[in-house]
Amino acid sequence: MLVDTHCHLDSSVYNKERDALIKSFSGIIINCGTKLETSRTSIDLAKKYENIFATCGLHPHYASKIETNFYDELEELLDDEKVVAVGECGLDFYRNLSPRETQEDSFRRLIKVANKKGLPLIIHSRDAMDETLKIVEEENLKKGVFHSFSGTIRDIKKIIELGFYISITGVVTFENSRLSDIISYIPKDRIMFETDSPYLAPEPYRGKRNIPQYVEYVVLKYADICKITKDEAEEINYKNAKEFFGI
Ligand SMILES: [Zn+2]
Repeated sequence: MLVDTHCHLDSSVYNKERDALIKSFSGIIINCGTKLETSRTSIDLAKKYENIFATCGLHPHYASKIETNFYDELEELLDDEKVVAVGECGLDFYRNLSPRETQEDSFRRLIKVANKKGLPLIIHSRDAMDETLKIVEEENLKKGVFHSFSGTIRDIKKIIELGFYISITGVVTFENSRLSDIISYIPKDRIMFETDSPYLAPEPYRGKRNIPQYVEYVVLKYADICKITKDEAEEINYKNAKEFFGI
């Protein structure tokens, strides 16, 4: 069973064909919220389609733009039976669309929420790996995945040591991708695959709009790198996604 463990199908780029796109994919989709509005639309999608599950969170880009009742509302949304994780959330020191301190404060707060609700956390970390690792350790995060991983072997070791998962996008299919040299260092019981649609379309669709079906290209690349069959790679992702999200 194919699983796209992270995407944003509520994005307006799919408005004309969202329904057809979802119906043509027989796998499982985890649709991730980035603020209250998209957390709600993620839940709407999950309620409409059996094979979609939702996450609710706050992307670091929006950390400084939250509603006054944000955390109360979020906690309420997280109680929905189709919500399987908190996130995405984390630190983005590449674009710094919110001040660093605000990003760190909201990240810490969301870790507390995830631990309290007994839900795993989807972590976005860009140009901020050391700070992200410091915070998850200090806040004693129970269960988390570093999504769209783009770090080093040292980062992999640290993430695994702390007990977390690592999720890989279609970037691994790009020519000269550093990722393809290092993903075999991720233990097979800690890796997951995602598309991050509509972003990061894999080869041969690089630069175009991404869709959940293309998670297949990540599966194929991983199978090729680890010298296992496509079915085995697909099963690794399915098993880990089931365990991680409790689906
Ligand atoms: Zn995302």
